[in-house]
Amino acid sequence: MTLRSSRIPLVLGNWKMHTALEDACTLADATASIAAAHPEIEVGILPPALWLVSIHKRLGGASAVMLGAQDVAPQPSGAFTGDLSAEMLAPYTRFMLAGHSERRHLHGERDELVRDKLDAAWRVDRVPVLAVGETGEQRASGRATEVVARQLEVALSGRSAAEVETLVIAYEPVWAIGTGIAATPQDAAEMAAVIRAWLRALGPVAPERVRILYGGSVTAANAADIFASPEIDGALVGGASLKAEEFAGIVAAAGGRAT
Ligand code: PEP
Repeated sequence: MTLRSSRIPLVLGNWKMHTALEDACTLADATASIAAAHPEIEVGILPPALWLVSIHKRLGGASAVMLGAQDVAPQPSGAFTGDLSAEMLAPYTRFMLAGHSERRHLHGERDELVRDKLDAAWRVDRVPVLAVGETGEQRASGRATEVVARQLEVALSGRSAAEVETLVIAYEPVWAIGTGIAATPQDAAEMAAVIRAWLRALGPVAPERVRILYGGSVTAANAADIFASPEIDGALVGGASLKAEEFAGIVAAAGGRAT
C-alpha cells in the first residue's frame, strides 16, 4: 500500500466567528454542492456552533458535506459557562477541532487541555482534529520541530493505535494563519514527514493511516502545489472557506490529489 492510496484526502473549512445565520445557510448549501461534485474526497465545514443545529437540519443526513465543531469542552456537563460538551455537539458533528492556535494564543489553552479535548471527542466517537504548529519566532530560531513534537507528545503519548489512527492532525504554522503567507509546499511536506516519524516512534501506531492536513493561507491558487506531496492529505482552510468559489478550487485540487 502506498502512502498516497491509504488515506482519503480531507478538506475542512473553519468558518471561525464569521457569518450570520442566513449567510451560513447559503454557504452551507454551496459547500454541499461542492462536496457532492467530489465524492473521491471528504469535505467538512466547521461553522459557528450556534448555527450547527440549523445547518444540520437543512443539509439532512445524506449531505456530502460533513459538519464539525471548532472547539469542544473536555467535561461532559457541569458548571462551565459558555462551553459546549462533546455530548452536546455529537448529534450534529463528525469532527471536533482541538488546539487551534487562536484557542491556544487568545484563550491561553495549554497542551494538557488540548489532550483532554481529544479525549472528549473520542468519548462520543467523533473524529478529533488536532491542530499543531509553531510561531514565526519559533521557526526563525530553529525550534519548529521541537515545538510541534512537544504539542504532539502531550496530546498523544500513551494513546492506543486505535485512537491515534482515527485522529486527523492539522499542521498549521501560526505565522501562516490568516496572513496570506502560506508555508512553502516543501516546508509543509517536511513537517508532515516529521510528524509521521514522531508517530512511528510512538509505538504501535501506523503513521501511514493518520491523515495530516496543512493549514495556513491555503487558497485555490496554491492548493495543488501544497497537495502535490504524498505527505499532505488535505487542508484546514480558514478565510478561503468563506468564499464558495475559492473553496471549490481547493476541493478540486484535493480531488486531483485523490486520483
Ligand atoms: C485556520 O484558521 O485554521 C486557517 C488556516 O486560516 P487561514 O486559511 O485563513 O489562514
